[in-house]
Amino acid sequence: MVFAAFLAFETKKLLVGEAVTPLKRKMCEFCHKHGEGRKWYLEANNYSEDLLSDLRRRKFIMDFFKRPESARRGIRRLNDLDRAPGFVRRAIIRRVSNKMKKVHFGQVVPIEEVERIFEFVTSVARFACFCRHVTLGSEHRYCFGVSMAPNGGELARIVREIDVAYLTGPQTAGIEQISKEEALSFMREHEREGLCHTVWTFVAPFIGGICNCDRSDCLAMRTTVTHGLPVMFRAEYVASIDPELCTGCRECMRVCQFGAIGYSAALDKSFIDPRQCYGCGICRSVCSKEAISLNERSTDSVASSIW
Ligand code: SF4
Ligand code: SF4
Repeated sequence: MVFAAFLAFETKKLLVGEAVTPLKRKMCEFCHKHGEGRKWYLEANNYSEDLLSDLRRRKFIMDFFKRPESARRGIRRLNDLDRAPGFVRRAIIRRVSNKMKKVHFGQVVPIEEVERIFEFVTSVARFACFCRHVTLGSEHRYCFGVSMAPNGGELARIVREIDVAYLTGPQTAGIEQISKEEALSFMREHEREGLCHTVWTFVAPFIGGICNCDRSDCLAMRTTVTHGLPVMFRAEYVASIDPELCTGCRECMRVCQFGAIGYSAALDKSFIDPRQCYGCGICRSVCSKEAISLNERSTDSVASSIW
């Protein structure tokens, strides 16, 4: 009897699924949580100066940049995690990923979304990348702070208070206030180098920066892709190749950081696996045949539930 009732309930769910469990629009978790169903990183509120009055957030930002040694410890722990038994590994990944969603989590964004962010933020600053400081021990100016206030606002003030030479000098150029046009031109240059753009929270939902990442040097990409511990979402997009336009040159394969592109020797065409694609658009920028396009992830039957 109980089983019959259960079966009837499940069947009803299948038949009129939306009435029983309303289907959410397929967007990343942060769009639902911090964007009211719209792209959360296009919400100006998530960059607001008000959010920086939160003392916990200010402390997090200061501690984050001051403690590269804790990131180095994190790399060693990730290597240990790779050797852990499957059930331990899965439990740790779930716990750490959920914790990171509260404090420092990212999302891949293609260049047109960076352009849209730059339409409403007021100022952009360029500074040395924390990840490369940790992994390479040298300065690489791949990170951009964005603010709703002039001259980097409160975020720049907080970072300037931090006594860390690689960020604020004296050996480096420190925090450079640059125009949005200059910033976009750097971003496009980095895209041609094969780097993928990502937005980052400093205690969600506050977004403080846009980085340019690769799998070799960027801690977040290494953590997410190499070690399988997600600390960033895929883009709200997924790429596809038009076989009519593709000439099989494989330039796109060379730049994809996520191993999402395959090649058919028989057809002399490349193809994209939507299960692997992060939607960064880097392949698109190197395709001279304009054969690659980005489509909304929510409309892709395979990729719409993979974040
Ligand atoms: S770069 Fe363009 S033309 Fe070359 S293989 Fe990739 S999709 Fe095809
Ligand atoms: S296939 Fe997807 S993940 Fe790979 S470069 Fe293209 S958009 Fe990025």
